[in-house]
Amino acid sequence: MQTSFTVTQLLDPQVASSEKILRACVHCGFCTATCPTYVLLGDELDSPRGRIYLIKEMLEQDKPATREVVKHIDRCLSCLACMTTCPSGVHYMHLVDHAREHIEKTYKRPMTDRMLRGLLARVLVDPGLFRLAVVMGLIARPLAPVLDILGLRRMAAMLRLTPHRKPAPPLDRTGKVYPAQGKRLGRVALLSGCINPVLAPSTNEAAIRLLNRHGIEVVIAAGEACCGSLVHHLGREDEALSQARNNIDAWTRELEGAGLDAILVTVSGCGTTIKDYGFMLRSDPAYAKKAARISTRARDITEYLATLNLRDASAPVPLTIAYHAACSLQHGQKVMREPKDLLSKMGFVVKDVPEGHLCCGSAGTYNILQPALAEQLRARKVASIERLTPDVIAAGNIGCITQIAAGTAVPVVHTVELLDWATGGPAPEPLAELVSSRVSVPPSY
Ligand code: SF4
Ligand code: SF4
Repeated sequence: MQTSFTVTQLLDPQVASSEKILRACVHCGFCTATCPTYVLLGDELDSPRGRIYLIKEMLEQDKPATREVVKHIDRCLSCLACMTTCPSGVHYMHLVDHAREHIEKTYKRPMTDRMLRGLLARVLVDPGLFRLAVVMGLIARPLAPVLDILGLRRMAAMLRLTPHRKPAPPLDRTGKVYPAQGKRLGRVALLSGCINPVLAPSTNEAAIRLLNRHGIEVVIAAGEACCGSLVHHLGREDEALSQARNNIDAWTRELEGAGLDAILVTVSGCGTTIKDYGFMLRSDPAYAKKAARISTRARDITEYLATLNLRDASAPVPLTIAYHAACSLQHGQKVMREPKDLLSKMGFVVKDVPEGHLCCGSAGTYNILQPALAEQLRARKVASIERLTPDVIAAGNIGCITQIAAGTAVPVVHTVELLDWATGGPAPEPLAELVSSRVSVPPSY
């Protein structure tokens, strides 16, 4: 694609980088077929190619974003299916990140939008505040239909995503070291993060048990917190970079102290962002090198587990698993085989979900900010999954787990919980009923 940025504009490293991305696009349109919003809406401006064109115009003119551009960029899930499909290697992720930042700096959203986005940016990254919000959501949940009638669909969507049980106060694990069982074979940091300790503490508990059982010491680095992914996708770049720097410092202290073989992440949305720290901070002289080093050490938990010799195990109960590939894992990190191979090795029957490239509608805060599209995508995803008649759904991202669980009665668990169970850990709690019904009762004679 031809571009017409001025020489002065190209002195800005961010513009220079986006210009390169724009020039790689040959407008072939292959990406439209796999874009969830184009599939649903059929509007070229809600396709990757259309959005790329809008972003090009907006950046070239260097003018405040218009309402039209904001509408179509806001509808983008950042699912990155377009990057997997694109034959020209267009790095859409960096382009749309730049566009979101430009929008945040130049466009004045309506007051209610600003308040909601500000609230999400403040509450979701703080486990204490987030738990409080979940508890309040639990109480207010029955009001969701009323909010729908009043036209407050985003508030209603938030309530519907609230889990059915009150979460326990999140444990602060930062600074804790979990020693390896037997001979120590490795040492890793595990991201504790912000949402996981409230909604799914069992995920990291399973990860720690599993790693320790296989000779890996685990540290939750002192001072680590939210990775910055949530605010990054809201275009709040200064906050995202500050959160990234905080975690880089925390992990660098561990790297240079007792040492780390890897930095493991059990939330694939966070993993994609941490792997991108090197790019995000490339122009920061104080952090560029450190950020690049952290990014090269970051691994999805299943990538790392695939390098270990997991103890011989077999599925404690033969189960059929529908494996939901989170977009951030399959498109963002290109981790596709590892979770399925690990589960298969454990003796589970693993089935791919038809239309697996399409997002479930979670996408960070998308299911709150764009509830109508998110609900359509969830319904489509759940229908595809349920056609497989699985016993359980496995996924590697808390956002997808919450989103899918809100639309189906099939239990949804993190992949690592199944792997922990198969190698000697407890059964994942959502499977308790299923497991007790499947445990074979010895025949009575
Ligand atoms: S597939 Fe790639 S090159 Fe083709 S239109 Fe989409 S982004 Fe551009
Ligand atoms: S990131 Fe996803 S929603 Fe956005 S343009 Fe690409 S395929 Fe479409």
